[in-house]
Amino acid sequence: MKLFATTALAMVLGTGAFAQTVGVSWSNFQEERWKTDEAAIVAAIEAAGGEYISSDAQSSSSKQLADVESLVAQGADVLVILAQDTQAIIPAVDAAANEGIAVIAYDRLIEDARAFYLTFDNVEVGRMQARAVLAAQPSGNYVMIKGSPTDPNADFLRGGQQEVLQAAIDAGDITIVDEAYTDGWLPANAQRNMEQILTANDNNVDAVVASNDGTAGGVVAALTAQGMDGIPVSGQDGDHAALNRVARGTQTVSVWKDARDLGKAAGEIAVALAGGTAMSDIEGAQEWTSPAGTTMTARFLEPIPVTADNLTVVVDAGWIEQDALCQGV
Ligand code: BGC
Repeated sequence: MKLFATTALAMVLGTGAFAQTVGVSWSNFQEERWKTDEAAIVAAIEAAGGEYISSDAQSSSSKQLADVESLVAQGADVLVILAQDTQAIIPAVDAAANEGIAVIAYDRLIEDARAFYLTFDNVEVGRMQARAVLAAQPSGNYVMIKGSPTDPNADFLRGGQQEVLQAAIDAGDITIVDEAYTDGWLPANAQRNMEQILTANDNNVDAVVASNDGTAGGVVAALTAQGMDGIPVSGQDGDHAALNRVARGTQTVSVWKDARDLGKAAGEIAVALAGGTAMSDIEGAQEWTSPAGTTMTARFLEPIPVTADNLTVVVDAGWIEQDALCQGV
């Protein structure tokens, strides 16, 4: 009777399966965007009759390994992992595979074909960042503020940026005078790096290609301290503070990745994988080979660049209220 009732419930829910527990391991939940991702993941899981459990590694790759173990111990049927460190996380994927637990590499690559890779086109994000900065500043000295060295997205972005800047570099129009990774993607580290680069270059900097909005915030703080705010700076994520910098003219572009879509897809895919759907049968799945040669099953979403010219895009999409954008201030 109980079995019948549960089966009937699963059928009513349309999942065709029993309720699934989805364990989500965040790497650095302090970043503004992950709260949006989380809300969308939770909504999708609950809509499918599943349960959400989570943990935050607080930028520690060893804590993330313990976190994943604990999510499995709590009964996770499937894992969604935002990896702090693409290498250090592999033992967690091994452990999950041994228990027959599916893994989604969320937003960041985990170089392991057993994981489903769900992300935005990060190379394209890098191109969009560089395109907007180059349009605003077609000549002069460039600084590249990269992401975390343990996050493959940092180099995907940097690769896309280089593609766009290469012709201007070859023509002698622009010069990359300095670049630095940002440990843990932390804004304070980006600010410190930018301060050191400004000092080393006697403030002879005309544009900064920063890899996300958090690091852009650190860069703009360093520029402001030198009276240099207003030079072109890029970012990504559509953080509210960054959109306000775009409105005020201290940031040129924030490449917007609708985290609501990525989160929804993750919740739905997690429940499907836990229910036994094959990775290749997931809607929108494609084969993708990493630069290191690992062929993965992946799904990519499209980013959108937001500049002062099209800020209405994020307002119209309900991402930010018009009132929360201090345009003209
Ligand atoms: C994500 C960015 C995010 C950054 C820092 C990257 O992997 O793609 O959206 O800003 O991590 O959390």
